[in-house]
Amino acid sequence: MKSVARHARALLAMIAASVVASIMPGARVAHAEEIPRLDSRDPNGDLRVGNPMAMRGPAADAMLEQIAMIEYRQLIADATAQRRLLPQTDARVKHVHDVVDNLMPYALKWNDRSRNWNWEVNLVRAPRVDAYCMPGGKVVVFTGLLDKLHPTDDEMAMLIGHEIAHALRQHARVMVDERMERLNRGTLSAPQLFGIGDFDFDTGEGFPDVRYSADDEREADVIGTEIAARAGFDPRAALGFWQRVESLDRRMPVELAAAHPITAGRLDDLRRRQPDMLALYAKATRRPVDSLPAYHARLN
Ligand SMILES: [Zn+2]
Repeated sequence: MKSVARHARALLAMIAASVVASIMPGARVAHAEEIPRLDSRDPNGDLRVGNPMAMRGPAADAMLEQIAMIEYRQLIADATAQRRLLPQTDARVKHVHDVVDNLMPYALKWNDRSRNWNWEVNLVRAPRVDAYCMPGGKVVVFTGLLDKLHPTDDEMAMLIGHEIAHALRQHARVMVDERMERLNRGTLSAPQLFGIGDFDFDTGEGFPDVRYSADDEREADVIGTEIAARAGFDPRAALGFWQRVESLDRRMPVELAAAHPITAGRLDDLRRRQPDMLALYAKATRRPVDSLPAYHARLN
């Protein structure tokens, strides 16, 4: 496991260096392992690796996907080594795969590059109540989510839609920018840019603080619910699901709630947009809106 982690770190260091080289022509890159440090004494001191304005454009998009892929591979290798990776033949993996397959056609319009994404779905046995979709279409669901929330099909589609929306809109870029800056300053030793690649599956130790902005959360709610409603999943499950996560979080710390803070504003937004989303769902399932059956929200 450790050699996998070391290998991934070396690769990430190389990528971080090449990001600097490709995006900032003025930056000097010596060796793959040496992340250039641009401080006030540097002639190029006005350039900073973490400058959010610098991480834009097709080259940066490709880099972000490449970094995500390397960290995803590391996560899968670690899970495999610890016998925590569920086989692709497992019914739970197939279920999440089916949800992703259903959502995918409606996701493309939100990110042109996603047409060429090689989507992957993996389930890892760990107590975390958590799921991610990284840029490039790399989905991971931790079994704690299934064991503690038992999401319905509609709820799973709303969650995966939300996670896919973060990936499509590249919300992780802000976190990557910030970690690149820390790498550049030398205050981050292991270049875990997304940070899901090297942590203790049981205790969660080493898992970084992944958190999106309130605006990003609302955008992921809107886009995720829209994608899932068009794919024929009941959008009323979005509000119900996040309320259940919030309720569980009151009884025990839930990783999903920490990464995606559930604010009154988010829940109000979901409520307010429900009529529009229901219209999409009705159209997708070829029914008039007023003939949709009542929705019975699950209780925890
Ligand atoms: Zn979110």
